[in-house]
Amino acid sequence: MADGNKDSRRRFGRRGRGRSGQRDGERVAAKAGQAEPAEEAKSALADQPPVVCSICEKQIFDLSSALAGRDGGQPVHFDCALAQAAVGENLEPSERVAYIGRGAFAVVEYRDKSMTAFTVKRRIQWEKEGEKFDWRKSIQHRMGL
Ligand SMILES: [Zn+2]
Repeated sequence: MADGNKDSRRRFGRRGRGRSGQRDGERVAAKAGQAEPAEEAKSALADQPPVVCSICEKQIFDLSSALAGRDGGQPVHFDCALAQAAVGENLEPSERVAYIGRGAFAVVEYRDKSMTAFTVKRRIQWEKEGEKFDWRKSIQHRMGL
């Protein structure tokens, strides 16, 4: 008889656990339901049309490093902007075009071979200073900036 009692207790225990397990299942389902809007938002971002560079017409995967194009401010690859900024600049062997920040490139002259010290010889303003671009605002928003 003693064994039988143990068994029934065990069964009760199991049944109790089973019930709480069901409740857990319901809670998980409720949580999953709440998570749905976030999943939708994510797929909405993925469904956005690819951003195409207006210089080389290839897709820009990393908008955070893109610059605004000179015509209309649409995003362009950083490298494309750099190459275009250098067009028409007759560079001396010691000169390079480098990004100096705030939407501007510059022809710089390196003072030594380590290329750490340089002088800005000519500033090439690329993006209009202080201009805000919607595509950049949206990427900054997405990155939580
Ligand atoms: Zn490009």
